[in-house]
Amino acid sequence: MFDAAPLLRDVFGFDDFRPGQEEIVDAVTAGENVLAIMPTGGGKSLCFQLPALLRDGVTVVISPLIALMRDQVRGLQEAGVEAGALTSGNTPEETDAVWEALEAGRLKLLYMAPERLAAGSAMGMLRRINVSLIAVDEAHCVSQWGHDFRPDYLRIGELRRALDVPLAAFTATADAETQDEIVEKLFDGSAPRKFLRGFDRPNIHLAFAAKDGPRKQILDFAAARKTQSGIVYCGTRNKTEVLAQALRAEGHSACHYHGGMEAEDRRIVETRFAREDGLIVVATVAFGMGIDKPDIRWVAHSDLPKSIEAYYQEIGRAGRDGGPAETLTLFGADDIRLRRSQIDEGLAPSERRMADHARLNSLLGLAESLACRRQTLLGYFGEQTESCGKCDLCDTPPEIFDGTTPVRMALSAILRTEEWFGAGHLIDILLGNETDKIRARRHDALSTYGIGKDWSRPQWQAIFRQMMGHDLVRPDPDRHGALRMTEAAKPILKGEAQINLRKDTLRKATRRPAVKA
Ligand code: ADP
Ligand code: ZN
Repeated sequence: MFDAAPLLRDVFGFDDFRPGQEEIVDAVTAGENVLAIMPTGGGKSLCFQLPALLRDGVTVVISPLIALMRDQVRGLQEAGVEAGALTSGNTPEETDAVWEALEAGRLKLLYMAPERLAAGSAMGMLRRINVSLIAVDEAHCVSQWGHDFRPDYLRIGELRRALDVPLAAFTATADAETQDEIVEKLFDGSAPRKFLRGFDRPNIHLAFAAKDGPRKQILDFAAARKTQSGIVYCGTRNKTEVLAQALRAEGHSACHYHGGMEAEDRRIVETRFAREDGLIVVATVAFGMGIDKPDIRWVAHSDLPKSIEAYYQEIGRAGRDGGPAETLTLFGADDIRLRRSQIDEGLAPSERRMADHARLNSLLGLAESLACRRQTLLGYFGEQTESCGKCDLCDTPPEIFDGTTPVRMALSAILRTEEWFGAGHLIDILLGNETDKIRARRHDALSTYGIGKDWSRPQWQAIFRQMMGHDLVRPDPDRHGALRMTEAAKPILKGEAQINLRKDTLRKATRRPAVKA
């Protein structure tokens, strides 16, 4: 509808919407009255900030939290957006600057504390300028029964009537009485479009598996779901073609899809997928926008997605009809390395790269999760839940063990070699192998040489992968991907902290994730 994607990326630094955001952004941008209920931390501010940029004129944001307003204004200004706040905490100069920007018609977002509405001058001023939208944060403050009641919030309804512009109200408080009261006080009782969707998609079964012959893992997963429509997401275009071929060889109806194909060929795949039953599309993330097939029964990732938001969106394409749907996401140390280097080699400013690393860490935390995946996933979006009973870890709780000893061995091998080597060579050191590289570098003289013989090579690989997953070590792109310790590893190395690892990922190859019929 509106092309929000470039703004999302360039101004806010996000590649994907969080659950629920896109629909709200579309509705608010289109000028509908909206009441959106989202958990704290779910990403409400984007839902009015982005429409503010897409609409003409000024968006007035009412928020009771002065510190938060100032943070948001600063964040927007740093991103090059004209935003200002009128609060009691302003210096006179700040207030003058806001007025000036307003008079000149430059301001896109004007944050106001509700007390300001009590002053007649503010109302008059707002009437003179081109206000195109009112956004109300913490909208439950209008409720007299709630514990956060702010009498000045009652003036917002008056403001809306006076300006006659759309209003978007946001809150994390979901109970029915509060909602009714918001509708009555802010919208004069005429029903706004309501968005109240928890992030949970309970019909989708969640599962992750460490890569262990990934092609066979995907083929096995598909074989157990023959004749069901599904999507396999791959990290590269070439892989989509190879894997689609392999699926056809096993008797599936499958085709590939990626951004490098002719538009016409892509359209053919989209139409086939919409119409046929049981077609598998093997695709890059280019496949997704605008697919709304309700009965996709499964989604598999043959490579780790880019972020937890991307993961959620991609698996969320399954089971839109509410029927049972299954997912499987494969991940390996190579994926982690690749995703890290994509972030590091990108041109984004360093703050944004740090945020991208943190978002990747959240996905890796989910991949290496020690308990219910749904709890971990929803927790990231701010929603609390019980253990779900519908994920691989609820099905079979993972055995964990105290991995402090091998992790410390690995960390000390990294330190003794001055953080200049990758996992392959470090494992050779730990196993006491006699390779040319070891001899040439005299690494057989290190105190860590051969101390890790209790574990096999594949086991060490799993340990290193989990260490990357827990962000104890990171590949350094300036050192050809050599592993370097992070701050998080220090307490473990010093013996001040302990770390649990999953046992199953340490078992010898051949083990497959449970495949359900
Ligand atoms: P709320 O107001 O709902 O509590 P915020 O708007 O403060 O939440 O957002 C919570 C966090 O989520 C912020 O750190 C924000 O940067 C992050 N966030 C919001 N939208 C996205 C997105 N699309 N992708 C990644 N992170 C996001
Ligand atoms: Zn679970």
